[in-house]
Amino acid sequence: MPELPEVETIKEALNRAVNGAVIQSVLIAERRFRIPIPDDFATKITGAAVKYLRRIAKYVIIDLDNGLSIVWHFGMSGRVRIISRDNLASFTREKHDHVIIYTNKCTLVFNDARRFGLMTYLKTDELYASTLFAKLGIDPFDERLNKQYLFSKLKDKHIPIKVALLDQSIICGIGNIYASEALYLARISPLRLCKDISLHECQILIGAIKTILQKAILAGGSTLKDYRQPDGSMGYFQFQHAVYGKEGMSCPDCQCEICKTGGIKKIIQAGRSTFYCNLLQK
Ligand SMILES: [Zn+2]
Repeated sequence: MPELPEVETIKEALNRAVNGAVIQSVLIAERRFRIPIPDDFATKITGAAVKYLRRIAKYVIIDLDNGLSIVWHFGMSGRVRIISRDNLASFTREKHDHVIIYTNKCTLVFNDARRFGLMTYLKTDELYASTLFAKLGIDPFDERLNKQYLFSKLKDKHIPIKVALLDQSIICGIGNIYASEALYLARISPLRLCKDISLHECQILIGAIKTILQKAILAGGSTLKDYRQPDGSMGYFQFQHAVYGKEGMSCPDCQCEICKTGGIKKIIQAGRSTFYCNLLQK
């Protein structure tokens, strides 16, 4: 599933490709997504120019000059391909290419095999009031994310910290990979209950979350399964994972004797896999 760094990478690629572009036509082959594409989607966005691109949590937002914004989510398997004008003549639709947006600069192709993603429009000035965004917590890169905020959200919760990091109403945009990686960097066990995390540890954890996500963005995200950057290349952050996907291996920062310790542990929490080092993470 594309997580925050992957979505940020996609947003930046879209920004380079279509900022200032005028939408000329829209082809919709399939409307049945997590939320169906509205019947008037093509009519509403055709003729509008792209004014600004941004990310809210794991959504890409394309603000148009007609007061509307395209809201785009990539679900589990969603991908975007950017076809330049030069390559448009040789472009052929592939299986699961569900939406094609033609602009005067390039063409955007939304491919989503499992259709857990979505594409819709909202009024730009009503975005944050919409049901999609109203309950979202603070973005990891929002300056309002500080130790007092996190501590206040955690102090009464009797669930493991790893599970709370995936709760989008606390911090939005941290996914499963980066939750394990951030807890490792912060040296906090994923099993610790939220109520036992100190104010000081909240500060360390926030720093770790930002560091991990920033590194992942610089690497173009992580490529697991389907994810590709919009130019088709892989993200490279998976080569920097310290613990995620490394069950039984030694962790980078301690001389775990794997034969004695068993190396990095994998456990399941709230249905999702967690990886950690039980020597370093307390
Ligand atoms: Zn270790």
